[in-house]
Amino acid sequence: MGKASARAANAGIQTEQAIALVRQENDRFSMESGRARRAFVLTFGCQQNEADSEKIAGMAKAMGYEIAATPEGADLIVVNTCAVREHAEKKALSTVGQYKHLKAQNPDLVIAMCGCMVSQQHRAEEIKRRYPYVNFVFGTAALGAFPALLWEWMNTRRRIFRAAEAETAIAEGLPVRRESGYRAWVSIMYGCNNFCSYCIVPYVRGRERSREPEPILAEIRELVAAGYRDITLLGQNVNSYGKGTKAGWDFADLLAEADKIEGDFLLRFMTSHPKDAGKKLIDVMAASRHIAHQFHLPLQSGSNAILAKMNRHYTAEKYLETLDYLREKMPDVTVTSDIIVGFPGETEEDFEETMKMIERAQFDMIFSFIYSPRKGTPAAAMEDQVPPEVTHARFDRLLELQNAIGAEKNRELVGKTLRVLCDGESKNDKATVSGRTEGNKLVFWRGDPAARGNFVRVKITSAEAFALQGELLND
Ligand code: SF4
Repeated sequence: MGKASARAANAGIQTEQAIALVRQENDRFSMESGRARRAFVLTFGCQQNEADSEKIAGMAKAMGYEIAATPEGADLIVVNTCAVREHAEKKALSTVGQYKHLKAQNPDLVIAMCGCMVSQQHRAEEIKRRYPYVNFVFGTAALGAFPALLWEWMNTRRRIFRAAEAETAIAEGLPVRRESGYRAWVSIMYGCNNFCSYCIVPYVRGRERSREPEPILAEIRELVAAGYRDITLLGQNVNSYGKGTKAGWDFADLLAEADKIEGDFLLRFMTSHPKDAGKKLIDVMAASRHIAHQFHLPLQSGSNAILAKMNRHYTAEKYLETLDYLREKMPDVTVTSDIIVGFPGETEEDFEETMKMIERAQFDMIFSFIYSPRKGTPAAAMEDQVPPEVTHARFDRLLELQNAIGAEKNRELVGKTLRVLCDGESKNDKATVSGRTEGNKLVFWRGDPAARGNFVRVKITSAEAFALQGELLND
């Protein structure tokens, strides 16, 4: 990685300088105590948060911390929070509540919180009031300021809240400690301009900012050279990548250039917005060598009335046009989607429209969510909220339909031989190995876990709604 160039927000020192200062202090501690300080990073939420946490762990490591697997015995705990659903917020708060006793055991323990939840003013206030043992808080835009805030806390012992930071320039070159040695996230942009009426993201991650293509391509090249096999480009709406960059490339241009990189790897991306997923992008995918034939295209609802209330800027018909083009150009493409059930004002007829779309679209899988009102979003203030019992009944019907479709789509793969990236020993059955297909489908087979991180060929022998079973081919 290059040198960290972000100016650490408000602390007046560069990230790189702050890392060196904390490192000196931690080296001194190690000399005196005979052990290195340990840091534990806990992540809630989406892939973007996972990618941010890998940078937090990377910065912690560069500052001399050993990365711990559990919070017990840690000297620094960072909780990276999510705000997309109320459930995730409650879980983060109750987890931090449990750290109170760790602080009582070790008063020198430093506890920090970051991410989307703490970027909301009311949550930052709540942490100030109800969690006095949380030492500092930083929002998603202030990721590069983490070392400087830690340094400031170490020196002043005054609580710091940098939660509602205005968007800052993208911090290039932050150290990264990747969780996997063969799958990697690469953030290509941050924030979102879309303001879907149910979504908190634009309020907590700010306006859209894209990285310049060159550092992205350099990062992909580095990953491929280091043996990474599965690289996912991340952004809230990758299809609108490139606005405001000096290069002036769009997302299809970026993908086409990344596809020229030599090596044995797959390139994925998420998340797409149907209003911006155009033919140029699909054509680039279809003609590519490395871009996985997999598309996550969130539909959210099959009802045009609800899509309008959601501020999604497409209709069910427009969505189907994109889907049909996708399948025309890549008949083997795996398509997944997101559906929100029980959006305010969703009538039985609206829900039936969604069910019809699910039948028509034949998704390989959907991620379905019960609508969760997010304070500060327009949808939370809408009057006609759907009663929970109605929402739950619709949710169950939707799952039943999709499970049958998913199982059928998977059964179509029986007898086929697929290239699968091996993830090693399966969690539940030590005699079984698991992996993911190009379409990101989960496959189990009997084999050697030593193939972890490599592509193997697996002949599919049976299928269920959420997984495939197969036999390893040793050719
Ligand atoms: S596109 Fe819509 S749902 Fe996705 S992050 Fe932006 S506002 Fe949220």
